[in-house]
This record gives sequence, C-alpha cells and structure tokens, in this order.
Amino acid sequence: AVVLEVAGPAAEAEHSGVKISNRERVIFPEGSLSKGQLADYYETVAPIMLPWAGSRPISLVRCPQGRDKKCFFQKHDAGSFGDDVKHVAIREKDGHDEPYLFVDTPAGLLTCVQMGTIEFHGWGARIEDVEKADRLVFDLDPDEGLAFEDVKASAFQLRDVLGGMGLVTFPMVTGGKGVHVIAPLTPTAEWPQVKDFAQRFAAALAQAEPDRYTAALAKAKRTGRIFIDYLRNQRGATAVMPYSARSRPFAPVAVPVTWEELRDLDSPARWHIGDGAEMVKRAASKDLANWGRADQVLPDL
Ligand code: ATP
Ligand code: MN
Ligand code: MN
Repeated sequence: AVVLEVAGPAAEAEHSGVKISNRERVIFPEGSLSKGQLADYYETVAPIMLPWAGSRPISLVRCPQGRDKKCFFQKHDAGSFGDDVKHVAIREKDGHDEPYLFVDTPAGLLTCVQMGTIEFHGWGARIEDVEKADRLVFDLDPDEGLAFEDVKASAFQLRDVLGGMGLVTFPMVTGGKGVHVIAPLTPTAEWPQVKDFAQRFAAALAQAEPDRYTAALAKAKRTGRIFIDYLRNQRGATAVMPYSARSRPFAPVAVPVTWEELRDLDSPARWHIGDGAEMVKRAASKDLANWGRADQVLPDL
C-alpha cells in the first residue's frame, strides 16, 4: 500500500526531549484525537501538573492502541520506561519492597505518554515519606441518573462540614461524572489514622443524610444516592491527578476549580485535551494560584 505523506505534525516529534512515535495514531475515536495531540497537551500542562502530581507514587492508565482498545492500570515499571520515569521502593504487605513509579520532570510525564499513558493517578503521599498522607480526598460518585447539580450540592456540603472542623478544601472536577473534594494536609498523620478519619466522616454524613449519601461500597445501596468514596484515603489507594486526561469519549481532563466556579459549572467534563493553554492561564489566575495549598492537620472526630 502507498502511504501518503500528509502535511501537518511530523510522524515523530520531540516533546521535552522525549521522542513521541506515532503522533497521528487516533487514541480517542470520539473527536478523532491523536497521540500527538495528547502529547502536546501534556507538554503544555506539565509545569502546572508537576507541582501536585510530581514526586508522588503514581499509577498509569495505559491504552497503547487507543482508549476503546485494551487498557491497563500499571503501578510498577516493567523496566521499559528509561531514566526519566523514576522509582521509589515501597514496602508491600508481605514485607518485601516493590519499585513504584514517580515522575518529577516534563520528560518523565512525556515518557509515560510515549508509552501509551492517558491517565495519571497518584497516591496521597509524597515519595519523601509514603507513610504520611499529604491530602485527604472525598471522591463523590453519583448513582446513574443523578444530576450534576446534586453532586455539586454535596460537594458544597462537604466543604461546609469539613470547613466547620477547620479543614480548608478545594474542588476538582474529574472529567468523568463527579467531583473530588480535597483537603491538603501537612504530612504528619499515617495512613491508618487518615483512613479512620475519612471512614468515620463519610459514615457520619451518610447516617445524617441517608437519602442523599451512602458510604457503603455495595452498588445496591447507591440507588439515587451519592457514594462518598472515602477509600481513596488508604495506603496504596490512588486518585486521578489534577490536569490528567481521562480515557473517556472526547478526551476530557480533570481540572482544579474554585468553589465560586463550581457553583456555575454545568458539567464535570467541561474541559478536554484541547484546552491546555487555557489550563495554564487559569492556573496562574489569582483565584487558582493557591489551589490545593493549606498548612493543616486532621482534626479530631
Ligand atoms: P468519576 O468522577 O467518573 O468517578 P474518578 O476518577 O473519581 O472519576 P472513580 O471510578 O471514582 O473515577 O475512581 C476513583 C479512583 O480509583 C480513580 O481516580 C483511580 O485512582 C482509582 N482507580 C480507578 N480504576 C482503578 C483500577 N483499575 N485499579 C486501581 N485503582 C483504580
Ligand atoms: Mn469518582
Ligand atoms: Mn470512586
């Protein structure tokens, strides 16, 4: 077969010093978005993504042939990522150490993209001390059929209740169906204490408002409710990173927002990988510059 050279981006191009192959490969059939466009997006947002996603253990959602083909969730390096994707040894339950992945440079991020990564998920701890949480996250997962307005109302309620306990929180729309309500923590508490707090907080809220919330994993309990997924707050659990793309139709991205903005937002998938420049501009704005920053510890519950 004759392959025509088409004008446009080169088939192979450098991004932050990383060679991206098959730039024209369609990764998102919906919207016909390519691996090259995904790489362009990550190169653009790398400077605003790394302060949060960098230097923490990450897991990758890799879909080398596209989001509609086989995807896998990867925690450990199979040895093929090279030097820009780094390793941190973490003790497993059985007592032996496993190398987990982390990145701390644009080249690290882009290497993951070259290897077919669409999504970046991260631990709630930094590589300096993986036993101490640097964030609490409540992942609000609505039952099918609930409106985004319901999710928003719940996010505001969590903000108010946590705020009443002295915790400042920040919202992030996931690019999927929900919102993550995030409380940054000065890393002092270890995982058992953090999980216990999150579990008891979620259970108390579900008990106070049983028509609105469930803290039970069972799908049957979710009918018409929002599952407060507190399980992101245990050792080894991950949550999607700010500015990560999602392996969903039309390549939405997870985006930090202000509480003000959330009030008027009509979708948790408002932005996509074409919006990298807007992300950078937004992140520099006065209202978002301090998103995710607070010096605080877990209150008593
Ligand atoms: P949505 O708003 O649509 O719920 P989300 O990112 O919150 O988007 P969830 O399904 O609620 O998606 O997943 C919460 C988190 O669980 C993810 O962000 C991810 O870090 C983790 N997770 C998802 N899939 C897997 C998996 N296959 N293995 C391990 N952890 C996963
Ligand atoms: Mn969720
Ligand atoms: Mn969840």
